[in-house]
Amino acid sequence: MSARFITLEGIDGAGKSTHLSFIAEWLAQRGIETVFTREPGGTPAGERLREMLLARESHLSLDTETLMMFASRQQLVADVIRPALEAGKWVVSDRFTDATFAYQGGGRGVPEARIAVLEEWVQQGLQPDLTLLLDVPQAVAGARMAASRELDRFEVEKADFHQRVRETYLDRAARYPRFHVLDATRDIPAIQHEIGAALSRLAGVS
Ligand code: ADP
Repeated sequence: MSARFITLEGIDGAGKSTHLSFIAEWLAQRGIETVFTREPGGTPAGERLREMLLARESHLSLDTETLMMFASRQQLVADVIRPALEAGKWVVSDRFTDATFAYQGGGRGVPEARIAVLEEWVQQGLQPDLTLLLDVPQAVAGARMAASRELDRFEVEKADFHQRVRETYLDRAARYPRFHVLDATRDIPAIQHEIGAALSRLAGVS
């Protein structure tokens, strides 16, 4: 079975981490060799960038933040994603470039065209085969997050920021057929049933 690249997206608290373990189990049960990674991060250098990007005490200009996201991504694409795909493995990433369009673009106001330049520079045409977008209203995600963890530099942003992030994700989902939008307000088994069906289609099994 040929390599596939899957990304998981959504506003903070939508349920990405929750569903990652289900995806891991689904793929393992079918003997599909998979590399799991996350953004920002996923390489030693990328994880150091992640610490700076998420620390609430970091003061980063908007361009610096955007460039650091792509610096982390470049290292990840070169060291992890491309080699895995070339070896025929599947890759599942918790966030990828759609998150930069959504957070730095929609959330913070970086023009889409500027992000697109960096996307082409770093990815040179590489795109996910499937992007699972966990879609949930900000109020629902905010309540889930508040109950589950200490918030990072993005998670502490106000409701209207997350609302813009969500809208940008939905706008991209309407433009690119690789997206599969999941109503993430439902209970976890219902969402995972739909994720399983999407993975089956991608794998070409029923
Ligand atoms: P993310 O990784 O997208 O930020 P998480 O997977 O960490 O989100 O989920 C945030 C919190 O919400 C966790 O406590 C998780 O158990 C809970 N949660 C996730 N999905 C659902 C769901 N569909 N219904 C109810 N609670 C959920």
